Amino acid sequence: AIEIGGLRKAFGANEVLRGIDLRVASGEVVCVIGPSGSGKSTLLRCVNLLEEPTAGTVRVGGVDVTAPDVDIDAVRRRIGMVFQSFNLFPHLTALGNVVIAQRKVLRRGRAEAERIAREQLEGVGLADKTGSYPAQLSGGQQQRVAIARALAMGPEVMLFDEPTSALDPELVGDVLGVMRGLARPGEGRGMTMLVVTHEMGFAREVADRVVFMDGGVVVEEGPPARVIDDPAHERTRTFLSRVL
Ligand code: ATP
Ligand code: MG
Repeated sequence: AIEIGGLRKAFGANEVLRGIDLRVASGEVVCVIGPSGSGKSTLLRCVNLLEEPTAGTVRVGGVDVTAPDVDIDAVRRRIGMVFQSFNLFPHLTALGNVVIAQRKVLRRGRAEAERIAREQLEGVGLADKTGSYPAQLSGGQQQRVAIARALAMGPEVMLFDEPTSALDPELVGDVLGVMRGLARPGEGRGMTMLVVTHEMGFAREVADRVVFMDGGVVVEEGPPARVIDDPAHERTRTFLSRVL
């Protein structure tokens, strides 16, 4: 689970997060929506300590990642993150990109890291692309490599920050399909996921809850059908009228 309490983040005088309380239970998918500049990325970046919170607590799997003595590398190992930009190493193949952090961070042996990389690449539909370099892959394929890379680390939770917004429209569906499969596997419990997205169709179908943020606060949250189709707040209605 991810448990966020009283989270605040200021950049100088600019208070970007102004007291966020949010819980993502194990196996739950929460989608965060909201206008540009509302603090969505900053919220995600505070969860894996890419930004240091100004106040409040963040727990991941029961561990307080905001504790002063926390091992930041250990925290990041438990949290997979996928960004809008894929950030693959251009000189490594898809397989190499999925292998490298397993080797360097988890100290896995080559054979084990490659076996896991192949499994994960197969899982995202890229079994036939293991030897391709990023420049030889479409944006959607590159993003799926990035997802496989994150999953190969065996994270407890996954954070997604607008993973499809840099993609050509026809490539969006493949990436969302992979995320849907992660949320709702055929067997067992799905991945715990916190997803910033503008894909309302995805949020409506896959999210257990949708959170609308504006001005650094959670304005409202609830089941997707409630928040998206019957918002309680004028700010949510205004936002949705622009994106739907
Ligand atoms: P978008 O939908 O455009 O991605 P967002 O909701 O993700 O927007 P954030 O990226 O979290 O918004 O930014 C919220 C505010 O924080 C913005 O005003 C931004 O300028 C500011 N901000 C973000 N990161 C920094 C930083 N490293 N230093 C200073 N200000 C920052
Ligand atoms: Mg953002």
